[in-house]
Formats: sequence, structure tokens, C-alpha cells
Amino acid sequence: MYDIIIIGAGIAGMTAGIYASRAGKTVLILEGKMHGGQIINTSVIENWPGDYGVSGPDLMNKIYNQAIELGVKIEYEEVLEITRKPEYATTEDAADEIRQLWSIKTDDGDYSAKAVIIATGTEPRKLSKKQTEEAGERPISYCATCDGAFYKGKPVVVIGSGNTAKHEIKYLEGIASEVLHIHHDDPIPEQAEAIFVAIGRIPTTAVFKNLVDLDANGYIVAKEDCKTSTPGLFAAGDCRTKTIRQLITAAADGATAAEAAIDFLA
Ligand SMILES: Cc1cc2nc3c(=O)[nH]c(=O)nc-3n(C[C@H](O)[C@H](O)[C@H](O)COP(=O)(O)OP(=O)(O)OC[C@H]3O[C@@H](n4cnc5c(N)ncnc54)[C@H](O)[C@@H]3O)c2cc1C
Repeated sequence: MYDIIIIGAGIAGMTAGIYASRAGKTVLILEGKMHGGQIINTSVIENWPGDYGVSGPDLMNKIYNQAIELGVKIEYEEVLEITRKPEYATTEDAADEIRQLWSIKTDDGDYSAKAVIIATGTEPRKLSKKQTEEAGERPISYCATCDGAFYKGKPVVVIGSGNTAKHEIKYLEGIASEVLHIHHDDPIPEQAEAIFVAIGRIPTTAVFKNLVDLDANGYIVAKEDCKTSTPGLFAAGDCRTKTIRQLITAAADGATAAEAAIDFLA
């Protein structure tokens, strides 16, 4: 049994871990992929105060080392389900009805916690069915930095029109023989040998849809206090409703959610 389980080891989750651990709580972070979150594919960050030009992996490894040093535990398991522990439904103690206990099922085990912070961020929006069919056997990538090198000297296409698409085009121009560019739902050019998709991001919140309120776009409804519609469940970082999704706002949420969870436990 942990005091606080945090789901997601991006900047929001790891910052929440640092704050909760320093407050003397037992903390476990469950991370489905690798620690660092969506920024780990970015080579230069220019707006993180105090470390101008730091790379995503370097910044995230520093934060990871700090969290581990302060006693945070991380298990690399994907959370599949959260349920309220049934024994609390029968308690006669009114206070305990609010102080719920949570069971968390992952792809490799089961855990319990007195409070849970959801910090699952966002994931790339997937290609439409029509374009997936057009792609046929050709590889589809959501990360030029990760996969671009496989297509050295070959023609590739980037789909999308936002800043991420621009970043992917710039990166691939130094590698591919030709970088074609189309918008969401345009036909995919036949000569492209690989398809790079940058058509926005969606919140990674499907696992929680029956537990907390989501807005029309799937973000967890929570204000600056990071409290969700369910007592004992908190949301931090890009997965919650907010106006600016950046490293610094996600880190701030981590601190706020940890403090809110600590208050809840008290
Ligand atoms: C290409 C790109 C460039 C960017 N550049 C900048 C920049 O220069 N400056 C800036 O401030 N911001 C930048 N951002 C935005 C910034 O990366 C995000 O705002 C920030 O990373 C959000 O952090 P987070 O912790 O909320 O979520 P994320 O970083 O998305 O982390 C969420 C974590 O949760 C994990 N997870 C999800 N579901 C589960 C589950 N069911 N079980 C277990 N783990 C799960 C994921 O694997 C992930 O590791 C950029 C984003 C992108 C995509």
C-alpha cells in the first residue's frame, strides 16, 4: 500500500513524486513506456528557465535522478484499470467514505494507494482510416527524431500543418532525398517511402473515463487545484483541462497535485 500512486513519469508525474516524497509520503510512479514523457524526442528546449538549450532527454534524466534520490520509486508498467477498493463501500466511518482506497491494475501487477495522481499527458493523434489504407505496407512514424535516420536518401512525406509538422520537416530535410508535405486528409503521394504523421495530440485518458469527468475532447476536467470530480483522484499536466500545455505548467501542476493529495490524506 502506497500513500500516493502517480500514473505517468513525464515532468508532471516526476515533479509530483518529488514534492510528495519530500513531504514524507510513500510514492510509486507507474510508467507504461520510459520516464521522461513526450519531451524526450526534442533535442533543444529554449524556454525552460535556468537551463537554456537543454535537450529533452538531458532535462528529464536530471529530474528522474532527483526523484530517485529523494526516494520516489518507479515501476515500468502500464496502468490498465483503477477501481475503488470494495471494503471501503461497507465502512461505517463517514470520513473513510471520502478517504477512498484505490486498486490499480497494470500489465504486470496490482497495487493499492490512498490517493492517485493521474499525469498521463497526451499522445499523437493517429492517422485516419482512409490514410492508413493509402499508406498500405509503407511504414508510418509519429517521430522523425526517432525514425528519420532509417530513410536516409529516400523520399518521405510529412502529414500535418502545425509546429510539430514544421519541426519534423526541418529535421527530415537533413536526411531524406525529398520531404513532401501534405495536410491532414490529403491523398498520400505515391513516391513517399515512409510517412511521418504530425496531426496534433490527444489526451491519454481513456482508462479513466468512468472514474472522472472528461471534457468533450477527452481532457480530465480539473482546475488549477488539480482536483478531479472524484475525491482522492488528482490530475496533473497536459492530461487536464488548461490553456497552456508546456513543461513549466506541467511541472507546476505536479507540485499542486502533490500538495492537494497530501492535504487529502491529512
Ligand atoms: C515535439 C514537442 C516539442 C515540445 N517542445 C516544448 C518546449 O520546447 N518547451 C515546453 O515547455 N514544452 C514543449 N512541449 C510540451 C511538453 O513536452 C509537454 O507540455 C509536457 O511534456 C507535458 O508533460 P506531462 O508530464 O503532462 O505529460 P507527458 O510528457 O505526455 O508524460 C505522460 C507520461 O505518462 C505515461 N502514461 C500515459 N498513459 C499511461 C498509463 N496508462 N500507464 C502508465 N503510464 C502512462 C506516458 O508514457 C508518458 O511518459 C513539446 C511537446 C512536443 C510533443
